[in-house]
Amino acid sequence: MTSRLVDVKHVTKLFADEYAVRDVSLHVDSGEVLCIIGPSGSGKSTLLNCINCLVRPDSGSISVDGELIGIEYRNGTPYEMTERSICFQRRKMGMVFQQFNLFPHMTVMQNLCEGPIRVLHEGRAEAQSRAASLLGQVGLGDKADSYPSELSGGQQQRVAIARALNMQPDLMLFDEPTSALDPELVGEVLYAMKELARTGMTMVVVTHEMGFAREVADNVVFMAEGRVIEEGSPARVLDTPSNPRTKDFLSKVL
Ligand code: ADP
Ligand code: MG
Repeated sequence: MTSRLVDVKHVTKLFADEYAVRDVSLHVDSGEVLCIIGPSGSGKSTLLNCINCLVRPDSGSISVDGELIGIEYRNGTPYEMTERSICFQRRKMGMVFQQFNLFPHMTVMQNLCEGPIRVLHEGRAEAQSRAASLLGQVGLGDKADSYPSELSGGQQQRVAIARALNMQPDLMLFDEPTSALDPELVGEVLYAMKELARTGMTMVVVTHEMGFAREVADNVVFMAEGRVIEEGSPARVLDTPSNPRTKDFLSKVL
C-alpha cells in the first residue's frame, strides 16, 4: 500500500495582486516521482516553495506526511502553524536549486556534514560515514576533501544533492537542477537523480528535461499561468497531450 506523502489542495498564492499559483491541487505518493513542467513564470517555483514552507500560501492547504503545513482555511478561518513546527516539517524535505549554493569555504565532506551535525545534532562519525556512502552514490567518492571551486558545475550539483540527502529527508524537491549547467554536464546530474529515484526516494522535480520526465516520472503536471492545465502519466501528457497549451509548450521544448 502506498501512502500519500504530499497533498496539495486548492493552493493559491498572490504576489501583489497577481496570481503566482491559482487553485492548484496535486499529490505525490511515497516512492513516486512527480515532474512539473511549464513555461517560465507559470508558478512552478512558487508551488515548490509553498511545499517547502519558504512561501506561505494565501489559501488552500498542504500536507506533508499527513501533517498540515502553512495555512489552511477552514470555513474562512485561517489555521497557522508555529515557526517551530514549520522547522520540523522542513526537515522532512531536501531541496536542490538551480544554483548549487555550496558553502565555498568548506570541503565537500564539511558541506555534507554541517547540517546533520549543527541542525540534527548528530555525531560527526555517523554523519561522515553516511556522507561518504552518499558521495559514492552520486559518483564523487574521491572528492570528499575537494573545495567547491575545484569542482565542475555538474560535480557541485551532485554534491548539493548528496548534501540534501545527508539530512535523511523523506522527500526531495528539485527546482530546475540542471538549468544552470553547461549542456555536457546535464547528463551526469540527471543520472544521479535517476539512480536516486531507483532507491525509492519520493521526488518532486521541476524540469525542462523531457527525456528525464518521460523515463523517470510516475506523473507529470503541466502548469501555465499558475494553474495545473494537464496531468497524468508521462506517456499521456508528453506524447498525447489533450490541451492546446500543453501541445504548444511541448512543440517548443521537445
Ligand atoms: P516559474 O518557476 O514557473 O518560472 P515562478 O513561481 O517563479 O514561476 O513565478 C510565478 C509568478 O510569480 C511570476 O509572475 C513571477 O514574476 C511572480 N513571482 C514569483 N516570486 C515572486 C516574488 N517573490 N515577488 C513577486 N512576484 C513573484
Ligand atoms: Mg522557477
